[in-house]
Amino acid sequence: MSPADPVLSLIRPEILAITPYSSARKESSGGRVWLDANENPLTPSAGKPYLNRYPEPQPADLVDRLAEYYTVAPANVLVTRGSDEGIDLLLRAFCRAGQDSILITPPTYGMYAVSAAIQNAAVVSVPLVAANNFSLDTTAVLQAASPAVKLIFLCSPNNPTGALLDRAAVLQVAKAVLGRAVVVVDEAYLEFAGTHSLTAELTAQPNLVVLRTLSKAFGLAGVRCGVTIASPALISVLQKIIAPYPVPTPVLQAALTAVSPAGLAAARASVQSLVTERRRLAAALAALPAVRRVWPSDANFLLFEVNDSARVMAATRAAGVVLRDRSRDHGLTNCVRMTMGTPEENNAALEVLTRV
Ligand code: PMP
Repeated sequence: MSPADPVLSLIRPEILAITPYSSARKESSGGRVWLDANENPLTPSAGKPYLNRYPEPQPADLVDRLAEYYTVAPANVLVTRGSDEGIDLLLRAFCRAGQDSILITPPTYGMYAVSAAIQNAAVVSVPLVAANNFSLDTTAVLQAASPAVKLIFLCSPNNPTGALLDRAAVLQVAKAVLGRAVVVVDEAYLEFAGTHSLTAELTAQPNLVVLRTLSKAFGLAGVRCGVTIASPALISVLQKIIAPYPVPTPVLQAALTAVSPAGLAAARASVQSLVTERRRLAAALAALPAVRRVWPSDANFLLFEVNDSARVMAATRAAGVVLRDRSRDHGLTNCVRMTMGTPEENNAALEVLTRV
């Protein structure tokens, strides 16, 4: 490690010192007779490939395809159990328990604070500017980024507001904290925004990390496949911490199908139809007497303010329609989040909301 490296110099020293577990699959590849990993030679899963064998720690085929899809190099890619695992790995790599902190911009995705609590890292909150469609307050973020803050989580498009963060503002923060902190841009919903990823800035801005997932645009939340995209040096460190076989063989199969040419075409079509629904629902919701305002969204959900969120939640629940009450989030009194379902599902929700 170069001590001057602006990212590696922020990693917990004890993590840098770890000699990672070297799995059988890491140590040897190829061969004809595999007697190295204490596996059972008899697979119970006839027809399914090699379920008796441990998978590759980071399956090369999948890493290559994902790198192509995200337009980065394979060395920039770590496949994880959902992007939630990426968040957890970053906390463990950078934050010394009881000493270091993360910075979040509420209202935002809840797992940043949960992973911080698990690692006993403090959470510094700098609210988004609601009056400006939940934009980033760069001045306040930079003021709050004390030396203890090692990770700054920025979610774009943000959950639960749906708003993209301004690219220049994110880069301004990353530039200002280079050598002091890492900026993690969570792009779980980026495909629904129809805009470019910040991965394009990775080479110029080594303290950027981008999180992506197959859970949203690819419709594979049940597969648990996320992607952490970062400098090769940081990816190598995260590989030391991640569990030995984070990509189970059935996950690999599903993910490879998703990023095949046919899978990519299907994901594009699905994103398009959900964006069309988003447009339709935004207008329909805005016309309802129970709805005070609908926030613009670049994601696969809409956040809207109602007259009485408790009443809306009770009425929808009684009708078997499950929405998400966000009214306890920072600045979101009486706000409800609705994921874009099929047109029939969305109509079922609208029908109840019309009667509230
Ligand atoms: N980031 C954001 C902003 C999310 O909303 C979610 C899921 N709700 C995740 C990450 C986690 O996604 P997954 O672990 O399924 O990849």
